[in-house]
Amino acid sequence: MSVNKDRGFMIYQRETPPEQPVEERIKHWHEFTLRLPADKLQQQACRCMNCGVPFCHSGCPLGNFIPDFNRAMQDDDWELAIQILHSTNNFPEFTGRVCPAPCEPACCLGVTDPPVTIKNNERAIADRAIADGRIRPNPPKHETGKCVAIVGSGPAGLAAAQQLRRAGHRVTVYERSDVPGGLLVYGIPDFKLDKHLVQRRIEQLEAEGVVFQCNAWVGRDIDPNDLVEKYDAVLLTVGSTKPRDLNIPGRELGGIHFAMEFLTQQNRRVAGRPNPENEITAQGKAVVILGGGDTGADCHGTSIRQGARSVRSVELLPRPPEGTNPATPWPMWPNILRTSSSHQEGGERLWSVLTKEFIGENGHVKKIIAVRLQWSDPDANGTRTFKEIPGSQFELEADLVLLALGFEHPEDDIPQQLGLKRDPRGNIAADYVGPAAFKTSREKVFAAGDARRGQSLVVWAIHEGREAARAVDLFLQGRTLLPSIFSFGYEGAAPELVKP
Ligand SMILES: Cc1cc2nc3c(=O)[nH]c(=O)nc-3n(C[C@H](O)[C@H](O)[C@H](O)COP(=O)(O)OP(=O)(O)OC[C@H]3O[C@@H](n4cnc5c(N)ncnc54)[C@H](O)[C@@H]3O)c2cc1C
Ligand code: SF4
Repeated sequence: MSVNKDRGFMIYQRETPPEQPVEERIKHWHEFTLRLPADKLQQQACRCMNCGVPFCHSGCPLGNFIPDFNRAMQDDDWELAIQILHSTNNFPEFTGRVCPAPCEPACCLGVTDPPVTIKNNERAIADRAIADGRIRPNPPKHETGKCVAIVGSGPAGLAAAQQLRRAGHRVTVYERSDVPGGLLVYGIPDFKLDKHLVQRRIEQLEAEGVVFQCNAWVGRDIDPNDLVEKYDAVLLTVGSTKPRDLNIPGRELGGIHFAMEFLTQQNRRVAGRPNPENEITAQGKAVVILGGGDTGADCHGTSIRQGARSVRSVELLPRPPEGTNPATPWPMWPNILRTSSSHQEGGERLWSVLTKEFIGENGHVKKIIAVRLQWSDPDANGTRTFKEIPGSQFELEADLVLLALGFEHPEDDIPQQLGLKRDPRGNIAADYVGPAAFKTSREKVFAAGDARRGQSLVVWAIHEGREAARAVDLFLQGRTLLPSIFSFGYEGAAPELVKP
């Protein structure tokens, strides 16, 4: 099929893949986004204007070469497309599914028209590479004789492991869970990210020579100081796992759980792995989810699939504006109302609501007392304050409450045992750029991902894992060929990946 590569943005409309209808997809736990046919995908790639200054680059934390992979798609060169993607992103099939795509609001076409479908193009390239058997192990051609321990196997740990192994170091990943993958496996629901995709990458890393030690809790079963002694470098990618609590009257009642207990159990159930007795389930219950971020949305969709009687997501913040927001113009990430696929599936969302008290019966939560809030306009620093609206108190039926209020910082065990400095928010302190990038206050110990930057996104975790791997390689060898977003172009990418 011939496509118009030069004026595609004037001819083709933005088109995203169809999704299974709600009533079908809530009956199962699989992904529900369908695929666009190859000709439509090519048309979507042709909407890219190959701008002289592609602002989408600055939107993507990985610095993905977006116009370049769009061009390869236009040319039907799927091998080159995946090579370009892999030169900046170890796991495009993850970001192609769960990334909020900050690149798209930065797309130049978005100034006048709907932006290029960058995220879906990325996903299509990755899926095509999997289907065509192009995701193969790429073991190092030489060994450096150095060894690195990575603690934590989320996207930051996995990306760092792959980069460091490809640089020729021996890499062992310590993971306290029974399987590697971090929140990719035991956080993000299966309906957003199929776990076979994570498993496929673990197998690729193992074939490249990365060793995974699961059920290995550093700080409890393994002294982190022993790792520092035994290895040439230690990288901490333990995530930001300490959940934020809500200490209001009634918090001790049964039926009030942290979101991650609930979500992890469901992911284990789908995988056929055992759960503790007294499993948490939303079936037949009135569910109230406190907190409106990604975690809250995942609880919302999971509760609907489990057969909850009602699902309500309660948010302290005011409802953002719909469509556009003059406070966050192009190419900024817009602060606008986002409706996740889970929110489209049913239930209710409440905004500007403060939870005051949990009321119970026989030791189990039965309802929530809440009050409506009046938010001020932003002050000169952009800060908004709220006050309770007098007489606005109301009750919500609740026999399962899920706390999705975010995460404070990494757990204390490893930082305490290693005597590491923390930043003012409690994360492991380490610079982001410069000569001390990713180095903690302890010699030989590095930190990256949510453990360093605080709770964030998969795309940022992969970015930090890659950059930290480069910092570790530099520390170990005094030089590095690993690529960095801070050295633009294909510099540092393996020469065979660069098409002349
Ligand atoms: C429910 C939920 C949904 C999300 N959805 C999205 C989404 O749709 N899109 C998106 O971009 N981001 C999403 N995020 C955020 C994203 O998952 C994280 O930002 C990302 O996973 C952070 O990666 P990481 O490698 O730094 O840490 P993690 O993924 O948290 O991995 C840390 C790993 O370290 C292990 N570990 C911790 N302590 C120890 C120890 N002492 N010893 C050994 N191992 C240890 C943990 O078991 C875990 O496997 C979501 C987060 C949550 C909680
Ligand atoms: S990783 Fe995310 S931000 Fe980067 S190109 Fe892909 S969708 Fe866009």
